[in-house]
Amino acid sequence: MPRSHSHPAHRRRVYGFCDDAQNDGAILNCQVNKTDPFKHWLAKVDKERLEVIENPELAMGQMQALYEKQGYPKDWIDKRLRGAGKWRGACEADETQGGYGQKKTEGRHNMNIDTPLAFPWANAPQPNGELREIAPGILWLRMPLPLALDHINLYLLHDDESDGWMIVDTGIGDAVTRALWEKIISEKLIGTRIIGIVCTHYHFDHAGLAGWLTERLRVPLYMSYGEYYTLRTMAMTYEGELPWQHVEYFHRCGTPADRLDDILSVIHVSNRLITPPPAAFRRLRPGQSLQIGKRRWQLLLGEGHVAEHILLYSPDDQILIAGDQILPHITSNVGVLPVEPDADLLSDWFASLDRLTPLPENTLILPSHELPYTGLHTRIAQLRAHHETQFATLRRICATPITAFDATQQLFPHRRSKMDDMMALGECLAHLNHLCQRGEIRCQVQTNGVWLYQTQAA
Ligand SMILES: [Zn+2]
Repeated sequence: MPRSHSHPAHRRRVYGFCDDAQNDGAILNCQVNKTDPFKHWLAKVDKERLEVIENPELAMGQMQALYEKQGYPKDWIDKRLRGAGKWRGACEADETQGGYGQKKTEGRHNMNIDTPLAFPWANAPQPNGELREIAPGILWLRMPLPLALDHINLYLLHDDESDGWMIVDTGIGDAVTRALWEKIISEKLIGTRIIGIVCTHYHFDHAGLAGWLTERLRVPLYMSYGEYYTLRTMAMTYEGELPWQHVEYFHRCGTPADRLDDILSVIHVSNRLITPPPAAFRRLRPGQSLQIGKRRWQLLLGEGHVAEHILLYSPDDQILIAGDQILPHITSNVGVLPVEPDADLLSDWFASLDRLTPLPENTLILPSHELPYTGLHTRIAQLRAHHETQFATLRRICATPITAFDATQQLFPHRRSKMDDMMALGECLAHLNHLCQRGEIRCQVQTNGVWLYQTQAA
C-alpha cells in the first residue's frame, strides 16, 4: 500500500523552470522528423528477431571481449559484467548522469537474469473503454491503434485528495479514440474529474490527443521539455518536399531516389494522427518527483527511443510506468532520424538500461504495449543481447563494403510496408553509427556522396 506523505516537501508538484542553457540544450536535442513515430512498426518487426535471442550469456561474452579489446582492466570488466555467479549491472558511472536518486552505496546490484518474465494478467482490458484496477488507485485501459501494433496501454492515476484522475498517455488523435475518452469521462469516471495529462513522450500514440484532451478538459499537460517541444515542432509540419538535408541523408544511405515519395507519404499519414498541441505545459524533470494523491512518482529519464522519455517509478510499491522504454517482447525502436544523422543513439539506450538496473527485480512494469510484467533484469539482459546479436549480424553483412540501405535489406528482411522500410533504415543506421563509434566498422564517403560501411579487422 502506498505510504502517506504528510510533509509538505512530499507534496511538491512539478513546474516548468529552466535556464537558458538548459533550454538551448533541450532544443538542440529535439528530434523533429515525423518519421520517428513509425518506429512502432519496426518494433513489431523486431519482435520476430527475439526468437534468436535464447542465450544472453553469449552476448555478455561478446561484451566482455569488446571491453578487453578496448583495454579496460579485468577487475572493471568483472565488476561490470558478473560477480558471484550472477550478472551484475554496474551503475556507479551512470549515476553521475542522473541515476534516479539511488544512493551511491547501491551502485552495484544483483541482476538475476534467470528469472523468467511473469505476466500477472493473462489478458488486457478491451479497447472499448473498459477500465481495470491493477493496483490501488491505478487503472489500466487500452485504446485501439489502426496499425500492425493494434493497441496502446494507458493508465489513470488516482488523486485521493481531489478525487481526481491523472491520465498517462492519450492514444492517437482520431475519432474513435476521442469517442472512447468521451465514454470513459461521462460514464466510467462520473462524479470525479480529470486533474491533468502526463505524456511519456511525443509519439502520436502517446501524445496524439494531448491537445484535444487539454482543450476538452481545461487541464494541464505534463511532459519533459524535450518531448513537449518535439511535439510542437512536429505540429509545424512541412507538407511539401523534403528539406535538402533530409534528401542528402537518404542519398548518403544509398536510398534509391524513387523511394523519396514513399517517405513523404509516410510522413503525411502521421500528420493526421496528432491534434494541435496545447500552448503550455508543466515540465517533468528527470530526478524530480510527481506527487499524485498518496503516491510519489520518481521521474526517470529514458533515452535512445526518443530524446527525453519520462518513466514514472513508485518506490513505495515498486511500480514502473515504463512507456516504450522497456517493453516485454517488442524491442523498442532505436532509430536514427534525418534530423540528426550522426547520432549514436544506442550509447544513450544502453546508458538508460544501466540506469534502470538499480530498480528491484520484482518491479511491476506497466508498459505502453503488450501486458504488464515482472522480470526487469532478465528483460534488460535480453535487450542487451538483442542488440549484440544485431551488431554481430551487421559485422558479417559489412564484410564487404555496403550502403546503409542495402545493409537494412539484410538486417531486416521481413519488412511489410513503407513505414517498416523507413524505420528499418533508421534502426540499421543506429547500429552502424554505434559500431563506427566503437571502431569496429569504418564509413567511407564515395565520390557520388553515398557512404559505404565496412567491417574492420579485429
Ligand atoms: Zn514511442
